[in-house]
Amino acid sequence: MAKKIGVLVELDYCVGCSACQLACQDYYDLPVTETYMRVFLGKPDVVDGRHEMFMSPYAYRLDKCANCLEKEGEAPCAAICISRALHVDELDKINELAEKTDGHLAVYR
Ligand code: SF4
Ligand code: SF4
Repeated sequence: MAKKIGVLVELDYCVGCSACQLACQDYYDLPVTETYMRVFLGKPDVVDGRHEMFMSPYAYRLDKCANCLEKEGEAPCAAICISRALHVDELDKINELAEKTDGHLAVYR
């Protein structure tokens, strides 16, 4: 049975550069209109007097992520992340990391 995979994004460190999305498209040789991970940029908002912008990669196809880990040992999208904000791993490890990590998180299971 395929291992369960999780994806965790530390939103305080993600700068919304979209390199993860491009790495995923490149790895799977997908056309620009197709992707297994998309980076969403939300509208800027004022929260507690500070300007904030929501941005987060969203992983659509965790079955494909499992394939990446099996073949490469690490996810191409996470390897390219300059902020080290993105983690793709077995679900147990992602859950452990989510407990240890402070700040805003997006976790896809
Ligand atoms: S997770 Fe990393 S590579 Fe992806 S948009 Fe955020 S900073 Fe860029
Ligand atoms: S782990 Fe692989 S399939 Fe999943 S988002 Fe990253 S590059 Fe794409």
